[in-house]
Amino acid sequence: MTATVEVRNLVKRFGALEAVRDVSFQLPEGETVALVGHNGAGKTTVMKLMLGLIRPTEGCVRVLGEDPAAGEFAARRRLGYLPESVSFNTGLTGRETIAFYARLKREPIRNALSLLDRVGLTHAADRRVGTYSKGMRQRLGLAQALLGSPRVLLLDEPTTGLDPALRQSFYEIVQELRSGGATVLLSSHALTELEERVGRVIIMNHGVKVADGTMDELRLIARLPTRIRMKVTESGLSRLHDWLEPVSDWRRINGHIVEVDAAPQEKIEILRRATSANAPVEDLDVIPPTLDELYAHFLRSQERAS
Ligand code: ATP
Repeated sequence: MTATVEVRNLVKRFGALEAVRDVSFQLPEGETVALVGHNGAGKTTVMKLMLGLIRPTEGCVRVLGEDPAAGEFAARRRLGYLPESVSFNTGLTGRETIAFYARLKREPIRNALSLLDRVGLTHAADRRVGTYSKGMRQRLGLAQALLGSPRVLLLDEPTTGLDPALRQSFYEIVQELRSGGATVLLSSHALTELEERVGRVIIMNHGVKVADGTMDELRLIARLPTRIRMKVTESGLSRLHDWLEPVSDWRRINGHIVEVDAAPQEKIEILRRATSANAPVEDLDVIPPTLDELYAHFLRSQERAS
């Protein structure tokens, strides 16, 4: 896979504050990557460096083979950006707004207007943006970011303010772009919704990249326990303690529900026992470590190490 973005030993200081500290990664085409981290972790700064809005203090950034901070950054036209707080001229209509951005990007107006349809704003195209709800403004922002069929899309907290249905349709659009070979980097605090939807996660903490990988890779590195939730049969309740004796970490949630925190090396054995013919178990769910748990784990590990 060809890398569309390459960040090498990137450092960005604002006076004494080191917002980005020695960060390196590559983003291949056709991949959706989440950039997560606490407020002030450096996510927006990394995106601004990729856009050439600010210059690195040290290190280098290449986007579609070019240096975004160079005067002539022709690749900018192939770059879409949805900023964290979208603000538009409230006096213009949605149609006028998208036409304005299309002219800036030298894109045909007709294509731009079809984007309003793609984000579900056709019905409001002739209303002033000042009358739009937050979710509608966010959708207009997304339409603006999609102008010119970008090869690289940088989306800063794109689903903030979107209702569940809109969030779903937003991720469908991202999936389409990804299938078309675009690289999508999105920052978010909504970790649960990212889990199923991104191929890879980069975790930042105080400007440092503390983890980078697919959910499976992060789970393998973190070695956190898998939660196994079992529904115990009525007749099995009396022998529950004996049956669970070899398991180190379990708790009773309510009458019939028991949860086991299975370490990676004991997971298979517990599942084997729970599904054997004489097990007092009538149903079970296997819940692997969530992105929330992995995130907390990597932050704790880095803080212990520093
Ligand atoms: P959030 O989740 O709150 O959006 P973030 O991870 O995007 O946070 P950044 O906006 O990248 O964080 O900020 C990283 C750090 O750099 C913060 O401490 C911020 O105050 C600082 N910072 C960002 N831009 C500037 C600037 N222009 N001048 C001085 N400090 C800045």
